[in-house]
Amino acid sequence: MTKLIFRGTGDSMGVPRVYCRCEVCEEARTTNTNRRYRSSMQIEDREAGTIWIDCGPDWGKQMEQASLIEIDTMLITHAHFDHIGGLPEWADACRWQKKRGVAYAPSEVIQEISARFPWLANQISFQSFDEAITLGSWRVSSWRVNHGKNGYAYAFLFEHRSNGYKWAYCSDSIGLTEDQQKPLFGLDLLVLGTSFYHEPFAYETRSVYDVTEAVELTAKWGVKRTLLTHLSHDIDQRKHYPLPDTMQFANTGLTLTI
Ligand SMILES: [Zn+2]
Ligand SMILES: [Zn+2]
Repeated sequence: MTKLIFRGTGDSMGVPRVYCRCEVCEEARTTNTNRRYRSSMQIEDREAGTIWIDCGPDWGKQMEQASLIEIDTMLITHAHFDHIGGLPEWADACRWQKKRGVAYAPSEVIQEISARFPWLANQISFQSFDEAITLGSWRVSSWRVNHGKNGYAYAFLFEHRSNGYKWAYCSDSIGLTEDQQKPLFGLDLLVLGTSFYHEPFAYETRSVYDVTEAVELTAKWGVKRTLLTHLSHDIDQRKHYPLPDTMQFANTGLTLTI
């Protein structure tokens, strides 16, 4: 049995944004419905233990909320600050617990992380995630995806070795090529990043799909269920949006058992 638990569903700045007085940020400050930490997910697997996807600057708070003090395996999608800003804090935790952290990331991502935080290698073993790995009963593979004006990120595909269940985590992407879309066809579950409902800005300035694009694409891909993450202050969880039955916004603590 595997449990997927959303620990953060926010965009790069989280919600509320420090400088922002919009309705959604103000609501997040007071009643909390729209409060969002940076995107990350906890995976509890009977065989593989605690796996965590992405280690943003809210990682410490997310661990508190999860009542966890350690994790077994970290998977990292790309080296943007909202996905790696918590690594120094995790490295410190490993140091005090006298254990080495294990993190998997594509090798070009490891290079970027090592350039930025060279001392992390003292506490964390970074292992290449260019080839598929095995975590419990899951075959897990990574592939490069376009991330618009921000360059590239990676998405992860999880395939169960015995029951055939397939799900993917793709938090930061836009303008995927036909090749990059291939792993997304016929998924049982897709966790997809969409920062806005309908992003009004010029395409060249964007870096993540919006909800209207997700609706179209997931229909094309034949995805059975889609959960949206990486949500900015444009998304107000108190509102009703016209979404297909197969799609919903994720929120902190949302848990799925597979
Ligand atoms: Zn991001
Ligand atoms: Zn990013």
